[in-house]
Amino acid sequence: MFNSDNLTVNEQGRLCIGSHDTVELAKEFGTPLYVLDEDKVRQNCRGYKNAIDEYYGGKGLALYASKALCTMYTARVAAEEGLGADVVSGGEIYTLKKAGFPMEKVFFHGNNKTDDEIELAMDCGVGHIVVDNIYELDRVNQAAAKRNAVQPILFRIKPGIDAHTHDFVRTGQIDSKFGVALENGEAYEIHKYASTLKNVSVDGVHCHIGSQIFDVTPFCEAAKVMMNFVADLRDTLGLDPKILNLGGGFGIKYVEGDDPLAPVDYVKAAIETVKEVAEQRKMTLPFLVFEPGRSIVAEAGITLYTVGCVKDIVNVRTYVSVDGGMSDNPRYIMYGSKYSAVLANKANEENVKKVTIAGKCCESGDIIQENVPLPEVNVGDTLAVLATGAYNYSMASNYNRIPRPAMVAVKGSEKKVIVRRETYEDIIKNDII
Ligand SMILES: *Cc1c(COP(=O)(O)O)cnc(C)c1O
Repeated sequence: MFNSDNLTVNEQGRLCIGSHDTVELAKEFGTPLYVLDEDKVRQNCRGYKNAIDEYYGGKGLALYASKALCTMYTARVAAEEGLGADVVSGGEIYTLKKAGFPMEKVFFHGNNKTDDEIELAMDCGVGHIVVDNIYELDRVNQAAAKRNAVQPILFRIKPGIDAHTHDFVRTGQIDSKFGVALENGEAYEIHKYASTLKNVSVDGVHCHIGSQIFDVTPFCEAAKVMMNFVADLRDTLGLDPKILNLGGGFGIKYVEGDDPLAPVDYVKAAIETVKEVAEQRKMTLPFLVFEPGRSIVAEAGITLYTVGCVKDIVNVRTYVSVDGGMSDNPRYIMYGSKYSAVLANKANEENVKKVTIAGKCCESGDIIQENVPLPEVNVGDTLAVLATGAYNYSMASNYNRIPRPAMVAVKGSEKKVIVRRETYEDIIKNDII
């Protein structure tokens, strides 16, 4: 019935996440509230880890893509499950370091890392920097030279794969701000140049072809292109990059009709392709890296809101306004993203009409979702928006000076606040004059 098997309805007809009644959670911790099912997060982490162990003899690593949801707590959970992490900013590096994350298992991405961020990565012992472009290559080499160190790097490659997804999240094709292209020789040239530098070692290649992908074909195509490129580097430049990082982008279920595969399906398919090309081109099998973000946390999270008003505009639409909005979930206003919603205190009742769920921000476009079928809605009802674990808290803002919600993690019968609700004092804390 719901997106994810951890959501059920109890005897009182209320939505539960794990064993927890969401209406009770809303009462106890207030709304808006992010709720994260830690058991589900761990289960998702294991899906990737087990697939690599089973089909590739453990010669690989799943990295949790921190940008999906970066807190000290989620970093610790990923670390406990044996995952590495990918990070894209100084703030994410800092968070992981403070959380005690094993920094040698961290890969640092981004198309415009600042010198400060590169220094911070080196100070914190980040294992690999995924270099985006030639300017950055020089800067990383210089920063490492200053320390008399050799920094392990990978290059971000645009393999030229169109992942048939939303334009904003399609990154594998040549018209992308990320990485160096294969088809115009840019990727080859940067490897050639890197091989003349003393303070970087090219350990591997990386690509990330997009997000919310439901098909194994683009991953297999990317794996094939990348493997052949590695073989070409060996044949032409005598290089031997040992790590093949295929990125993330594995799809999840937001709404009816989204039909994602299990992690193991993607991993297995990519592994088969890697093995085929390795055989054809007589290569040793690379150390394989995947970078799931959304598929680790999205379905594990929900957001709880309280309905504050219902405006039935005859022959137009019904607006149901909640006590959050684009400040805690900007994905609809940014991408028109789809979400499912449930009236948590009436989870067994029949849907009677389609409504527009609106936020409380001063923007007409501040909508969480349109055309959502719901039972009769009343002021004071608890509304749950599903699959908000990824790219909600991490994209939240203080627009309209709205404090960010708290986040509660549930695990078995336990529940705990892992991110406290912001206060108005937090809102003004940087206004120094
Ligand atoms: C965003 C991103 C990911 C994770 O993408 P998901 O769609 O959340 O799985 C992985 N790797 C890189 C480089 C990214 O930019």
